[in-house]
Amino acid sequence: MTFSLAIVGRPNVGKSTLFNRLVGKRLALVDDQPGVTRDLREGEGKLGDLRFTVIDTAGLEEATDESLQGRMRKLTERAVDMADVCLFMIDARVGVTPTDEIFADILRKRSAHVILAANKGEGSAADAGVIEAYSLGLGEPIRLSAEHGEGLPDLYSALMPLA
Ligand code: GDP
Ligand code: MG
Repeated sequence: MTFSLAIVGRPNVGKSTLFNRLVGKRLALVDDQPGVTRDLREGEGKLGDLRFTVIDTAGLEEATDESLQGRMRKLTERAVDMADVCLFMIDARVGVTPTDEIFADILRKRSAHVILAANKGEGSAADAGVIEAYSLGLGEPIRLSAEHGEGLPDLYSALMPLA
């Protein structure tokens, strides 16, 4: 049995950096079907002995006529419905933003299985943001540095029960 993990969160928190780290060169497909999976990237994730499908959400960065909130909702709901578990990422150096709180609401209302990750967690500049992450009410945050590869054992521990 394997599982699928969708990485969600506002732009620039480090979702794609984590995706790339988990997937390495095993990018399964870049699907550009209009309107269907255009904003989702799927790959074969690997962490220790775990193998799983990982889904990167994007497409919130571009300016369009549609509101960011509307697009966030749609994209996040699609990712939640596709995946067994969502990794909801915040930027620990910035702390919890109003946009993060909207994401948390969407995930809660959708009854998503959520793993909370406080990324950019390297160094003491992230300490306050990691603690703030508890206020989202999504459990204990995993302190990660996607860029530096820190916190991966804790991510492994969170994912292991799903395998
Ligand atoms: P996304 O928009 O959520 O997919 O974010 P990206 O993965 O594109 O990353 C946004 C920016 O944050 C890039 O400049 C990354 O290099 C940087 N970044 C990602 N992870 C980390 C991290 O763990 N620490 C730091 N300091 N920067 C990071
Ligand atoms: Mg991205």
